[in-house]
Amino acid sequence: MKTLIEVLSNPHRHWVGDGFPVRSLFSYQGDTRAISPFLLFDYAGPWAFEPAGAHRRGVGPHPHRGFETVTIVYEGGVSHRDSAGHGGTIGPGEVQWMTAGSGIVHEEYHAPDFAKTGGAFRVVQLWVNLPAKDKGPPAAYQAITRDMIPEIPLAAGRARLIAGAFGDARGPAKTFTPINLWDVRLVADAEVTLPVPDGHNSLLAVLSGQLSIDGQAVDEAEIARLTEAGAGVTVKAHGDTVLLVMTGVPIDEPVVGHGPFVMNTHAQIRQAIADFNSGRFTAIGPSS
Ligand code: MN
Repeated sequence: MKTLIEVLSNPHRHWVGDGFPVRSLFSYQGDTRAISPFLLFDYAGPWAFEPAGAHRRGVGPHPHRGFETVTIVYEGGVSHRDSAGHGGTIGPGEVQWMTAGSGIVHEEYHAPDFAKTGGAFRVVQLWVNLPAKDKGPPAAYQAITRDMIPEIPLAAGRARLIAGAFGDARGPAKTFTPINLWDVRLVADAEVTLPVPDGHNSLLAVLSGQLSIDGQAVDEAEIARLTEAGAGVTVKAHGDTVLLVMTGVPIDEPVVGHGPFVMNTHAQIRQAIADFNSGRFTAIGPSS
């Protein structure tokens, strides 16, 4: 079995644009081997937004290169548009999986309907690294809607499979390296063993409720980091609990990140900045 190494948390919120009140629970500025193949975890919310009328809160056009952004909506809605011509709006239980690859410019705003009404907002953005050989290909985009995500009943809850496998079931996301991404809900007092695989770095984010692992509490907006060795982990829920299970085989390559670019060397970062500043990232086209 896997055991708990540490509990990650961050009391400090910062705003990404005017739409995303974020706590970064891990990032590539720390020990990148410990979180690989993941790079960054931003928990936006929970937050109550007032109606914004025609104004849409969010972040205007900005670039990315060298990794994937995975946006998971729990409450509220998010709209995305990018320079590769992809776009879409997702609501609760849905996922945008954007592969920045060699470079993309995108914008991320509250969904128009949500902006009008306001209300509860809770969104995760997870950054997933790409192996060096896959940082060059063009950008791609997967819209993962509720109907595409299989739901596995658990003894006292359920798991929705966004990526990877759970027993015989498979999630819809295409990934470049072996990854599991499960949206898990447990009822109060549930004790379950989750089949997290041996050889995967494993991170369990508690988004509401509370877990205990190896007798240690993991509270809301905290992440349990587990050992890479061992298969399975037993968790106990205290109160109804929502957790995001992230596991993956570590990518054994250097990580050099700077803002929206994550590459393998400083030279590649300088190149990304130069390419962006000289207009070699395509702009987002006009709205259709
Ligand atoms: Mn972005």
